[in-house]
Amino acid sequence: MPSCIFCGEPLGADTKPEHILLDAVGGRMTTRTVDCSACNNLFGNGIDKAFAGQSPEIRNLLQFRSGSGRTAPSLKNVKAGEQILNLGGDGKIDLVRKPFTVKENPDGTFVVDIHARSIEEIEKLIPHIAVSIKMPVEEFRKQLLASSASMIEQRPNTIPFRLSFGGIDAFRSAMKSCLVLWATLVGNDEVSGEPYCAARNFVMAGGEAFHRLRTMLDTRPIPIVDEIRAAYGPLFNLIHVQSDATGRVIGHFTLYNLIAFRVVLAEMGGTPDRRMTLVSNPEAPEVWSKGGNFDLPFDWLSAPEYNLEDVRVRLARFHAHYAESKTPDEFERMIVDVLEKNGLQQGGPVSAALAHKIGGELGLRVAMHRLGLPFEEKATLAELMRRYRKQETGPKEDPPSSGGDAED
Ligand SMILES: [Zn+2]
Repeated sequence: MPSCIFCGEPLGADTKPEHILLDAVGGRMTTRTVDCSACNNLFGNGIDKAFAGQSPEIRNLLQFRSGSGRTAPSLKNVKAGEQILNLGGDGKIDLVRKPFTVKENPDGTFVVDIHARSIEEIEKLIPHIAVSIKMPVEEFRKQLLASSASMIEQRPNTIPFRLSFGGIDAFRSAMKSCLVLWATLVGNDEVSGEPYCAARNFVMAGGEAFHRLRTMLDTRPIPIVDEIRAAYGPLFNLIHVQSDATGRVIGHFTLYNLIAFRVVLAEMGGTPDRRMTLVSNPEAPEVWSKGGNFDLPFDWLSAPEYNLEDVRVRLARFHAHYAESKTPDEFERMIVDVLEKNGLQQGGPVSAALAHKIGGELGLRVAMHRLGLPFEEKATLAELMRRYRKQETGPKEDPPSSGGDAED
């Protein structure tokens, strides 16, 4: 029976599966034969959260689900210029503001302003507003439906993201991932042994000296980046552990093909000349592989570099990928919307005059979106409700994650 490489506890059939690459960043591969459930829980509630905390913005922006399929984390009250936004993990963006305001005129009539992002939201507000102006709900509903309303669509202001990578706890988690992956290759007895003692202690208890001497951020793209991109997409995650002829063991953990965590598992005395890689595609978590035969130059692994220019280049590439992958969704939504508004199904017959009208509407809307200007459509509320209710019956969204995902 194997024992936990961290605390020596015997492992059994009921040992909790440990995600080698964190579930939070899209990892699917698990093992029950390296660390015990107690250590697994301890990591999940501590250092793994710190590691997952490096990237909630990235996961939110690209709507990356976790390895087990949970929606990306939501980000609340994000400042974007004058706007305050809630960014849903499902890609929905909400402006944060009062749902309605009521002003009483000197003549006793009321001005009611309602801001809602869906017909359902308006329905929910109706009873509350009726109470606040002391009007029977049905009477208020009747007046409301006949009143004027606008559908406004506007691309949100630029959302500033502050990414920060590193920190001792994130490195402890990266080291744990590397030790666990390595143990699946060389066995628990080896990784429980003396050469890995300092690395295990670092995972369990931290340590500034170890952090300074044996961990480092690496901003260089890995030498096999093209090969990996081709198989696992442009934003791959990769954990690679390799030893040289003297048994020095180095781990390299590339996160989203943006930056890497380099850790030294053992300075000497490990099994020489072995290597093991785990790669996954966070855009399609079912695409992952353990093994492979990626032989990275040991000299390259040994000498990480931290260079802000590298980070800028890689972020620019990342952003280009984001713009490419997300913009078509938005335009697709506008096209469907304009077609439906004009009573057309995609692929249905269309007269030249109607095609001209649709082209004009769509062009205006796309242009406004590109320019970041509000596109406004005025009608009575009843008309807008008829038009947009149909789109409200899409698939139910997952409840937003509170951010405190149990990530292990
Ligand atoms: Zn343990």
